[in-house]
Amino acid sequence: MNQPIERECMEVDVLLVGAGPATLAAAYHLMKTCEARGVEAPAVLVIEKSAEVGDHMLSGACINPRGIKELMPDFLEQGFPLEYVCDKPQTHVFFPNAHFRLPMNLPEFSKKNYLVASLNKIAKWLAEKCEALGVDIYSGFAGDELLIEGNQVVGVRLGDMGVDKDGKHKGTFQAGMDIRAKVTVLGEGVRGSLSKQLVSHFGLEGDNPQVYETGIKEIWRVKPENHVPGRVVHGLIPHYLTNAFGGMWLYDMQDNLVSFGVVTALESGNPFNDPHLQAQKLKTNKWFRKLFEGAELVRYGAKAIPMGGLTAMPKLYANGALLVGDSAGFCNAEKLSGVHMAMKSGMMAAETILEAVVQDDFSAVTLGGYAERYRTSWAYEEHWKARTQHASFAAGLPFFFVNEPVRRFLTDGGGLVGQPEFHAGHQAYKKLSELPPEKRTAEEFEFDGVLTFSKEHLVGFSGTAHEADQPSHLVVADTDLCSDVCTEEYGNPCESFCPAAVYEMMEDPEVPGKKKLFIHHENCVHCKTCDIADPYQVITWTPPEGGEGPDYTNM
Ligand SMILES: Cc1cc2nc3c(=O)[nH]c(=O)nc-3n(C[C@H](O)[C@H](O)[C@H](O)COP(=O)(O)OP(=O)(O)OC[C@H]3O[C@@H](n4cnc5c(N)ncnc54)[C@H](O)[C@@H]3O)c2cc1C
Ligand code: SF4
Repeated sequence: MNQPIERECMEVDVLLVGAGPATLAAAYHLMKTCEARGVEAPAVLVIEKSAEVGDHMLSGACINPRGIKELMPDFLEQGFPLEYVCDKPQTHVFFPNAHFRLPMNLPEFSKKNYLVASLNKIAKWLAEKCEALGVDIYSGFAGDELLIEGNQVVGVRLGDMGVDKDGKHKGTFQAGMDIRAKVTVLGEGVRGSLSKQLVSHFGLEGDNPQVYETGIKEIWRVKPENHVPGRVVHGLIPHYLTNAFGGMWLYDMQDNLVSFGVVTALESGNPFNDPHLQAQKLKTNKWFRKLFEGAELVRYGAKAIPMGGLTAMPKLYANGALLVGDSAGFCNAEKLSGVHMAMKSGMMAAETILEAVVQDDFSAVTLGGYAERYRTSWAYEEHWKARTQHASFAAGLPFFFVNEPVRRFLTDGGGLVGQPEFHAGHQAYKKLSELPPEKRTAEEFEFDGVLTFSKEHLVGFSGTAHEADQPSHLVVADTDLCSDVCTEEYGNPCESFCPAAVYEMMEDPEVPGKKKLFIHHENCVHCKTCDIADPYQVITWTPPEGGEGPDYTNM
């Protein structure tokens, strides 16, 4: 039996969870503003679950420069890792066997002068800037549990290390430390596990539930003649709309690399909705065949994106805690742009924290100043303009096509939707019995191993590594439900939506003829799709041991 656990405790003033653009901008802005105002800097600590800062970063990334310019006006002189500045924005339309380029860009894809970059490199660069200002950054440490005393968040407990798959302590066991802080800033990115605890404990839910897309990203090295610096392609995929909402991007990077990706809404009626498959199928269009001829696949990964916009954002603060970046839904879904919004949210959080430090009051009364700052910021204006976009889509395609011109060009984002209302994505699934017989099984597709690849093959390109002998970090509350109910009702969507082949229904060795869920947790690329998309909401993504997961170099 395991002994009772003694935990070390550490105290800081400000604890930031996750080293993404939101928290790193917060830490940088806080230190810089203290310096400018002659205020003694608080003790600031950032914890990050990946082995090195940036290793779990996955983004397009074609970035609106507004955020970084405000954070660091001389960012280019300071060595911002720029690939190219977009000077050739293009909008394309892809059908299975045809393709054309629109003569003009749609407004949301007019990204002239946006910065094409790798978020992995940006996080590393920004972390160095923060450390130079006195911020401590501990990578390889995952926040496992929010520490709450009374009605106040008082810090975070780190995950234990060295526990075997049966929950027993190994010789290498190390109890996760408690980090106590006056204010804890959650910037865990999309569907944060601690952020979920915060929202549920304090009842911070927004008017609508958050909704998501899953982005599949691949980096390819193309032949030099196929490389076009400054090119930024966004694509519409009309045939896709019968299955799910989504689109594609392609951005050129240095060294003949291209960032290619497909995003797929996680609110399809089809329980076999498969973001990875959509990306593979799109590449068979002859435009991609030509582009990727003689090209080499370099990296693969996946991550969810919050798409609900303004009305799906939770309340941004509680006693002792703030939510920033994707964890709070700071993403301009219309433009697939979240980095500048994440940075802005971090800056607004930093200004609020400074006020709290000066007043020595970290209650919701002072921290509520963050929400006020947001309401008078350009980030709010962006969200306001797109406020009914998701509701427009959720009302169904015929309405969407009528409403969109009204929303975009006549009503400053209002459209014909009265109260923008929508439901959680998993509620859209139809049961197999409601589908025509030919749609009751997952689509078959033959991967050619040259341009299109299976999930199992692609995971090898994500650099993912997890210790096998540890409890699965994918916690399924009731696995009997998977075999007894889900197989019949929905056909086990987990086998389709997971882009890393983590979930597999296999013959149960103990009950012949019956299938049982196997979880290949070692493959997990931390995209969070399962936590979002399972029809019964019984899957909870929790952090594995710190330092494990994908290695998203260049992503
Ligand atoms: C496929 C895709 C394409 C995109 N394309 C673009 C684009 O072209 N342009 C653009 O502007 N935006 C784009 N975005 C959105 C943008 O990447 C995000 O909005 C932005 O990265 C959010 O920043 P963040 O700091 O909130 O979170 P993240 O960048 O996700 O960083 C969160 C960090 O927290 C860490 N973390 C999470 N939980 C814990 C924990 N419990 N303990 C310790 N660490 C933890 C994670 O490992 C991660 O490093 C895209 C997103 C996706 C998924
Ligand atoms: S197990 Fe969940 S978080 Fe991990 S790759 Fe699959 S869907 Fe994504």
